[in-house]
Amino acid sequence: MMKKRWICFLLTFLLALPLCGQPAKNAVWIIGDGMGPGVMGMFMQGVQLAGLSQYPDKTSTLEKFIKASQTGLYFSHTHDSVVSDSACAATQMAGGVKSTPGAVGVDAQGKNITSLLEEAIKAGKSVGVITDSYVADATPAGFLAHTTNRADKYSIARQIVYGQAQVILGGGIKYFSQHSNENLLEEAKKQGWQVVENLQDMQKVNKGRLLGLFADEAMPFYGEKEEHANVPTLKEMTQKAIDLLSQNEKGFVLIVEAGKIDWALHDNELGPTLWEMINLDETLAYVWDFAQKKKDTLLYLNADHETGVPAFHYYNVYGKQFSDKTAQGEKLYSGNMDYVGYQYYNKLFKHKKMLYFMYPKFRKLPKEEQTTEKLQQMTQEILGEKMELDLGTWVPPYEALIRKVNQAYGLVWATPNHSGGMLLGVAYGPHAQQFGGVYHNTDLKDKFKKALGL
Ligand SMILES: [Zn+2]
Repeated sequence: MMKKRWICFLLTFLLALPLCGQPAKNAVWIIGDGMGPGVMGMFMQGVQLAGLSQYPDKTSTLEKFIKASQTGLYFSHTHDSVVSDSACAATQMAGGVKSTPGAVGVDAQGKNITSLLEEAIKAGKSVGVITDSYVADATPAGFLAHTTNRADKYSIARQIVYGQAQVILGGGIKYFSQHSNENLLEEAKKQGWQVVENLQDMQKVNKGRLLGLFADEAMPFYGEKEEHANVPTLKEMTQKAIDLLSQNEKGFVLIVEAGKIDWALHDNELGPTLWEMINLDETLAYVWDFAQKKKDTLLYLNADHETGVPAFHYYNVYGKQFSDKTAQGEKLYSGNMDYVGYQYYNKLFKHKKMLYFMYPKFRKLPKEEQTTEKLQQMTQEILGEKMELDLGTWVPPYEALIRKVNQAYGLVWATPNHSGGMLLGVAYGPHAQQFGGVYHNTDLKDKFKKALGL
């Protein structure tokens, strides 16, 4: 009798196993564009070692989030290349198949793929896409549109307007208001979109479809937000999107791209990169809080590819090489080595704004004012403190100036472009355990589908 009862209990348990864990009602997918594991580490370490007023406990949300979540490593290689661009990476993540660089929502043969968002819409969920770059840019486009060429920005804008998303927020007014798209915003209104172009108007929208375009092209860098009081931050856009999307009882899928991390990394400027990470961190804090309270929302954070690949290294302060190798090939250090003190993180966080925008201002000065002293002074103003850049009498081009600045910070960079390095994905909430281990970015669509019960 006892035996039978046990078998019955066991059978019930085994049959119930596949049903274990309700599907997630909602998913929020935060993508740090270009955010390699090295930059995530530098940001978390920088918050630990520098005294930043917004982090009194010296711990970033990112660090707390990773400690509470499931992490995994994944590859992003394409159909035929080791390195990916943003368009192909977004396409592979959204569509679950390999594609080629430049492709948007199509496979390697140019055939349309069905994106995760399209499947979510079919299941009755609401979808939204947010970026602090512009909405016709590669990452949002890979989730929303289909074209073999990411440069077809006017076509991507039209596909967004005539598509079925509920919330689209970011920059890119020009792609909706000139050339072939001169009347596209009028068309958008006919499609039921409420079109807004500033923070105040965005806050007034409390239901329905929302198309918010807050800059002609990409939105401003986070380090410059004080100069753009009418422009929402990534966190403010995310709050509004969740308010609107969560009105659907069947749930929602929201893609949030922190796009400007990649822009700062392409220019090899680490200070502004860390500020873009603060931008991501404050957005993550809001979404994670939502996910913790709701318990029905899967939150996934990852990158599309790695950009720049910065690293601190030790170096001889007098710029000399190490001593010659011994016969056994051992390098003996000659002393006077700088192992990069903690204070460098404080210095880096003072560098909020891009030197990239300062340099053209220097070049617009009258010729006789374009001296190395003037360049040193303007650079120091952006860096936020005195830095000996050793410019000599030569006025360097922008790229050479950046190399000098990085040298002064003890930094080396692998590239001004993308790398093919592995990436870190972090998942929290229902079915997060699927996102552990090693996988490929084309596996993500299926993981999301399983988690959402699609
Ligand atoms: Zn990218």
